[in-house]
Amino acid sequence: MDGNWAIEAVPSCRTRHDDDSTLSALSETGHLRRLPLASIGPHVMKDSNFLKENNGRLMWHPMTSPQDSHDSPPKIITGGSGVRVTDIDGHTVVDGVGGLWNVNLGYSCQPVKDAISAQLDALPYYSTFRGTTNDAAIELSYELSEFFAPDGLSRAFFTSGGSDSVETALRLARQYHKLRGEAGRVKFLSLKKGYHGTHMGGASVNGNANFRTAYEPLLPGCFHIPAPYTYRNPFNETDPARLAQLCAAALEDEIAFQGATTIAAMIMEPILGAGGVIPPHKSFAPMVQDICNRNGILLITDEVITAYGRTGAWSGARLWGIKPDMMATAKAITNGYFPFGAAMLGERMIEAFEGNPAAKIGHGYTYSGHPVGAAAAVACLAETKRLNVIENAAARGTQLFEGCKALMEKYDIIGDVRGGHGLMTAIEMVSDRATKAPIDAATGAIVQEVAYQNGAMIRVSGPNIILSPPLVLSEADADVLLGALDAGFAAT
Ligand code: PMP
Repeated sequence: MDGNWAIEAVPSCRTRHDDDSTLSALSETGHLRRLPLASIGPHVMKDSNFLKENNGRLMWHPMTSPQDSHDSPPKIITGGSGVRVTDIDGHTVVDGVGGLWNVNLGYSCQPVKDAISAQLDALPYYSTFRGTTNDAAIELSYELSEFFAPDGLSRAFFTSGGSDSVETALRLARQYHKLRGEAGRVKFLSLKKGYHGTHMGGASVNGNANFRTAYEPLLPGCFHIPAPYTYRNPFNETDPARLAQLCAAALEDEIAFQGATTIAAMIMEPILGAGGVIPPHKSFAPMVQDICNRNGILLITDEVITAYGRTGAWSGARLWGIKPDMMATAKAITNGYFPFGAAMLGERMIEAFEGNPAAKIGHGYTYSGHPVGAAAAVACLAETKRLNVIENAAARGTQLFEGCKALMEKYDIIGDVRGGHGLMTAIEMVSDRATKAPIDAATGAIVQEVAYQNGAMIRVSGPNIILSPPLVLSEADADVLLGALDAGFAAT
């Protein structure tokens, strides 16, 4: 024993009820864990002092510095119910972040929980590498082919998350051209401000220096086009339709400069998400599709956020009326309850790969088609369709967007409000509206903290507050978010 903590051995896999095996495993494994004294016995829980003491110390968190986690320890979330989460001190808030754009059905989606636990009992894992598969993965591939039929996508390659799905699409794009005798098509195009995850390929097409610079050199042959971002763009153009044309012209110009026969694919988010919710004018995606088609370039939509209803349409491709060659999906495919993703594949890919003995896919993950993830996804899709979440996403999305625009009338700190397509809304904060100088981090942190104290978890990313709540948000929940934001801005 050591202060307030006891030391317990953690055998690699055992039941917590078997005290004898616990003791015998102690000397076998030599693997020790500190446990609070009060919690020794079956169903061990850490107490809050232990958790707070160790918070931000031994775990490096994504997207911040170890020093920051140490100096400002992250909120410890210990519970979730409906669209609300509860922290270690018992403070409950509406989750304006939706986990991380993924908990579309909220935290109490019993059919998904049941599917996960039933699958764990039946078969917790089996590989889908050559020669074996599992029943859940087969069922999911069928469900997805139905779900994405209107997008022209009928085949799935399963992954463990968004970055994996992006990487899969990029790799298969190169292979597609090699199979068709155009081995010189290896380059990738994407939008500045786009976010495509953090694998080396995804980071290379990523359009934000924060995810690139420290990890350079990245993949050669990746080129970026200006985003259709009316608030800030190199053309100084505020009209969305004209800006869409200018960005499309920049894309054509880059293709001509690189040479179309050197380019494998263009990847883009139908609505840019992590870059600050940037919805393009409705003409933009169809123009990009047309340019790609005319130049033999595959179009990949990165729908890690936009697939499964977030935009108020079942996919971003459907929102804009385009048919991509591949679509990267993840996040809401399992409601965030299990790490899982799917790269969906369309006719061109099918033509090049199927019935072709040379088309061996030298790509895949141990967890491709994980049966627990697949079972979660099957249940999640059924629930997503049963609840017809696109309707509520659209209605609550409009409420939130209009509410944020009303806040902009009230607070000069708000430079721009973007959204209007489902439950993806951003507030861009500035320290000076006239010059559009970005807000300092400390002010953003005040808004976030005061909003939290007033009942809402919100996410501040750079100068942006990004709102991506569960799609099952009620009108009253949306009002809680808006009220908490109001309090947050009032405190600055
Ligand atoms: N693409 C997009 C559009 C995303 O928003 C994200 C994650 N926010 C990713 C890819 C990466 O997904 P993951 O974090 O699951 O790897």
